[in-house]
Amino acid sequence: MATTIPIIDARGTAEANARREAADAFVRAAADGATTAPGQVADALGRGLHDLRISVTDRCNFRCVYCMPKDVFDADYRFLPHADLLTFEEIARIAGIFVERGVAKIRLTGGEPLLRRNVERLVEMLAKLGDLDLTLTTNGSLLAKKARSLVDAGLTRVTVSLDALDEPTFRAMNDVGFPVARVLEGIDAAAAAGLAPIKVNMVVKRGMNESSIVPMARHFKGTGHIVRFIEYMDVGATNGWRMDDVVPATEIVREIDAALPLESADPNYAGEVARRWRYKDGTGEIGVIASVTQAFCRDCTRARLSTDGRLYTCLFAAEGVDLRRPLRDGWDDARIGNVIAAVWRKRADRYSEIRTANTGRIPRVEMSYIGG
Ligand code: SAM
Repeated sequence: MATTIPIIDARGTAEANARREAADAFVRAAADGATTAPGQVADALGRGLHDLRISVTDRCNFRCVYCMPKDVFDADYRFLPHADLLTFEEIARIAGIFVERGVAKIRLTGGEPLLRRNVERLVEMLAKLGDLDLTLTTNGSLLAKKARSLVDAGLTRVTVSLDALDEPTFRAMNDVGFPVARVLEGIDAAAAAGLAPIKVNMVVKRGMNESSIVPMARHFKGTGHIVRFIEYMDVGATNGWRMDDVVPATEIVREIDAALPLESADPNYAGEVARRWRYKDGTGEIGVIASVTQAFCRDCTRARLSTDGRLYTCLFAAEGVDLRRPLRDGWDDARIGNVIAAVWRKRADRYSEIRTANTGRIPRVEMSYIGG
């Protein structure tokens, strides 16, 4: 039987337009307010601004069932036209202003970031912004080809998504028949180019790939790479998310521990997204990202810049603040910095902590556009 997925496209509706007008008015007022000096800024709940995720394209060559399902992201889907995308110069300039406001870690994502032509040039520009943790999340399909040039451009780390090791399961998850071996080649090439240790993201969806949890752990145990098991989230509005499809972190850890004994490890830093577990035999560690069953909003220090230059302060937001227009209208860094600081100060998002069965109806943008 065909599945019907309700589409709540946050773009272009009357409600969305009204929200955008309000956001634009806020931007103008913030820009013209007293200039705030560069430096750390805290939000309404006392959380600092430390990380910036940048979606460099809303396109992807995979159609992962939990992210860009084929029946929505089909030949008729309206991806952003090229002119709407921020140019590399625009991204680098905005990123520089974020760095002045305290950002120390930048992650390029999307969509599939390696699909953006010459993305290495952007990496090179961002690497010049200072002593940053400059990383990228990729499906790995183009990594074997690009790992060396990314390192040469200044990339410091990489996260590769891989949802299963067995061919039928992985092909069913990416839904374009992409083979596991090509992703593994990408991981090896990245390690050889100096990007190790590599983080490997596995989204666990009930009924699809939970039988791959232990094989994934076993495969990467002892390699130095860190598999991060991610609870399936209700991002966007197209993946038909249901709580029943979530395999809770406790279940994931219990299963791995039964086969490969684990012990809890301390976080590397306050606010680390993944909860760390070490193999008792000293052969490495895993991470578990329990964004549904153990929300970590109170430690969230991440801002997101969409492909077309809107600033979002939560992965589950319905609306962002347009930074592209100020850029293209020739505003100086101080005014744009004022806007970023004002948006951050006002931020009170904690969607994952207040998630209920009903929050699923609230419109929100897709992960590929806002940046995963
Ligand atoms: N194309 C790149 C990739 O595949 O890694 C980057 C973008 S992707 C949106 C970033 C990460 O988000 C991936 O690790 C992906 O598995 C994860 N992701 C996407 N949809 C998700 C969902 N509904 N729940 C949990 N994680 C999700």
